[in-house]
Amino acid sequence: MPQVYIGLGSNLAQPLAQLRDACQALARLPDSQLLALSSAYASDPLGPPDQPRYLNAVAGLHTQLAPLALLDALQGIEQAHGRQRKAERWGPRTLDLDILLYGEQRIDLPRLQVPHYHMHARAFVLYPLAEIAGELILPDGRRLTELLAQCPYQGLERLEERLLDEVTA
Ligand code: ATP
Ligand code: MG
Ligand code: MG
Repeated sequence: MPQVYIGLGSNLAQPLAQLRDACQALARLPDSQLLALSSAYASDPLGPPDQPRYLNAVAGLHTQLAPLALLDALQGIEQAHGRQRKAERWGPRTLDLDILLYGEQRIDLPRLQVPHYHMHARAFVLYPLAEIAGELILPDGRRLTELLAQCPYQGLERLEERLLDEVTA
């Protein structure tokens, strides 16, 4: 089964609760197993600056869902969390679930590009990912440690609050 990494983000409607609920939802995905979960992190918004700070985390799973089926399931969870897609890019959101990596696969479909196109430059992705997969090598051969060395913290702050009491490996 491919090892898949999902990036979670929220900056509306009690972000910590959003992330906790999302983790429960990821743990219940069909034909899948939640293997690892990073700490929660606070980060500065990417897009318009007049929005609350984000909470982020990264989850690792095994799944038998094909990539587009996984995307459908993640978008279903986003919708269940009241996600509204607006024209404004990177605007505030209750929940964002992005597929960062799907095993070694490179995917370039209209609805899905994997590895996530901007993961290599996002502190709120790379630092949580390193917590749960420090030795990771991306499909293009780059090591996560190399990417981290070139990625400033960008205001990232690790939080003590736990997202799930237990992750069953
Ligand atoms: P960003 O992708 O820069 O983090 P975003 O997460 O805010 O921005 P969304 O509005 O959540 O963007 O998603 C826009 C579209 O991106 C989705 O409808 C989805 O089809 C597409 N998409 C492409 N690649 C991925 C991926 N790896 N994970 C999730 N969605 C993706
Ligand atoms: Mg995103
Ligand atoms: Mg998204």
